[in-house]
Amino acid sequence: DEDRALLDTLGFEIEEEEAHGADPVLAIVGRPNVGKSTLVNRILGRREAVVEDVPGVTRDRVSYRAEWNGKDFTLVDTGGWDSDSKGMASRIAIQSEVAVDMADTVVLVVDATTGPTATDEMVVKMLRKKKKPVILAANKVDDERGELMAAELWGLGLGQPWSVSALHGRGVADLLDEAISVLPEVSEVETRIEEGGPRRVALVGRPNVGKSSLLNKLVGSERVLVDNVAGTTRDPVDELIELGGKQWRFVDTAGIRRRAHQASGADFYAALRTQTALERAEVAVVLLEAQEPLSEQDVRIVTTAAEAGRAIVLAFNKWDLLDEERRYYLEREIERDLAHVAWAPRVNISAKTGRHAEKLVPAMETALENWDKRIPTGRLNAFLGELVAANPHPVRGGKQPRILFGTQVQSRPPKFVLFTSGFLEPGYRRFIIRRLRETFGFEGTPIEVSMRIRE
Ligand code: GDP
Ligand code: GDP
Repeated sequence: DEDRALLDTLGFEIEEEEAHGADPVLAIVGRPNVGKSTLVNRILGRREAVVEDVPGVTRDRVSYRAEWNGKDFTLVDTGGWDSDSKGMASRIAIQSEVAVDMADTVVLVVDATTGPTATDEMVVKMLRKKKKPVILAANKVDDERGELMAAELWGLGLGQPWSVSALHGRGVADLLDEAISVLPEVSEVETRIEEGGPRRVALVGRPNVGKSSLLNKLVGSERVLVDNVAGTTRDPVDELIELGGKQWRFVDTAGIRRRAHQASGADFYAALRTQTALERAEVAVVLLEAQEPLSEQDVRIVTTAAEAGRAIVLAFNKWDLLDEERRYYLEREIERDLAHVAWAPRVNISAKTGRHAEKLVPAMETALENWDKRIPTGRLNAFLGELVAANPHPVRGGKQPRILFGTQVQSRPPKFVLFTSGFLEPGYRRFIIRRLRETFGFEGTPIEVSMRIRE
């Protein structure tokens, strides 16, 4: 309250960031080739379409930040699998279901020019069970002539078909207006971080890095409880594992233990699993293969965990296979590709031999402690005062922006707002972040610093 009074006198308004929940989630589902990617690109306002004609091409980015009429939401895309692989229909149903479980509202895309197929019917059946609002998009209605075909989709029993042309944009605005009016203000999906109880860990990493091997090693002969999380329908089964005298909840281990589909679409599925596990976790243990070059996919998973705002521990697995030469290159690769998460603790382990697996626990504890950390406003401002006195912002065009006041508006992960009298250069902001980390010790957690500039 004192902070607030001070801000009032300085003429700032501070948003109630903590009260603000997660953005509502809109999922786009449907069988391949109905135009989901085209619609996603249209909604995101992208010029270059990600639409691929190459079969088997997978995209592993599955959720995007989107905005329509001033309302922010998260868009979940479910495209990206090969349309003529075996067992495809059931896989589509499963993938759609995962997306629907993550979503507040669903857009089912159907190709109006071909009419509903058996696969469409299967997805519709699944959607009925979910009891979530569904908006039916009758796509590829490029002109008036298509309207009649769109009307036939009333037969799916999902209410009014909204005829659109994802390709040309026709009808998309109306569809989005409808979606926005149905979406809640903040997400009501129960996948968010729960308070209390054992700390929640997501074990993530690309296929074959050794996730299930590590899980088995950690479980060992310890007492294991498998329990179904209330309110979720499919699979996210967690395992409670006792490590270092404490219980830890490893989330969605069913997704790890289920043998990965070898067919195409597996990468996509793995990415989706990673995202849902991250949503529910507090700390991510990202598994990487020490003896293999870091891949783009590895880096992407690390980045996704950081962007999701999770505490992070990097675990370099298969250390038993490492030789001196590889060790040298590994250090270089880490410096080059993982510089943006240089703050994450690293442990070198072997899931196979059990080497140093016990070191995961103190690393997770440190990361979580810092993730939870709150810097008292007084201490923060004393720090800022000293920092600015010793290293003032460079003068630019006769002006020198000043930091008037700073406060930590959130933890888990820590977020700071600096109230300033002008725009702080990116270089200066990076400097502040570096000093914040050095001074307060944020090992293992992402932190965010934003500015509010006084008019
Ligand atoms: P997805 O597999 O459901 O993501 O489908 P895509 O977005 O990849 O689209 C499949 C094909 O349908 C592509 O060749 C698109 O150009 C085409 N397509 C998508 N939307 C429309 C549309 O509104 N009208 C027409 N005529 N073609 C479309
Ligand atoms: P996941 O797909 O990430 O769950 O990976 P798995 O646990 O199935 O492991 C993939 C392969 O790597 C298996 O053949 C494991 O035996 C092997 N593996 C896992 N951890 C290690 C390790 O620390 N050292 C060695 N040499 N092999 C490992």
